[in-house]
Amino acid sequence: MGGAAEVGRGLPGEVAALPDGKDIDHCIQCGMCTATCPVAEAVPGFSPRQIIARTLMNLGEELLASDEIWYCARCQQCVATCRKDIRPGDIITALRIIAIRMGYRKTAGARHTLAFLGDIKKKGKLNEATLAFKTLGMSTITMVPYAMRMMLKGKIPSPIVKKIEGLDEVRALVEEYRR
Ligand code: SF4
Ligand code: SF4
Repeated sequence: MGGAAEVGRGLPGEVAALPDGKDIDHCIQCGMCTATCPVAEAVPGFSPRQIIARTLMNLGEELLASDEIWYCARCQQCVATCRKDIRPGDIITALRIIAIRMGYRKTAGARHTLAFLGDIKKKGKLNEATLAFKTLGMSTITMVPYAMRMMLKGKIPSPIVKKIEGLDEVRALVEEYRR
């Protein structure tokens, strides 16, 4: 039987208290999740198996401040593969939520999520022209030549975004989701 009471306090306990994380302590470290993960194939060092292991070892500080938890593409391949009914992809999503709630907001993934949410709350849709800068900060300067070429081809959307109709309903949905 899994659950918060068995895996203890700290990050393992927090994850185990969530419906998608309750069986995390059943992990046998077989590595099937990593073997079938398309992101692990493309990004050296990314491993859902290791993320589960580091969560169980309560290495929260290191994990929550890392870019790694933001690499997952949410394809659910690992969830379909795990024979111990663990949901690595959903656990990684839970780690992202915990990271933002605990103030680990400096990673590109966290900044992207918060910028995305900020745009939706403000205007009801994304401002694609500013999203990259809000996500990557000054490092977007290296993308200027590429952006210029896109602009010449008319592929950079206007940075001026109008509010959508029904914005209050969108905001209410965002608030409902955040509870
Ligand atoms: S989460 Fe499942 S598939 Fe991945 S290492 Fe643990 S038991 Fe194996
Ligand atoms: S859900 Fe994430 S961790 Fe799981 S297989 Fe897909 S990309 Fe990999």
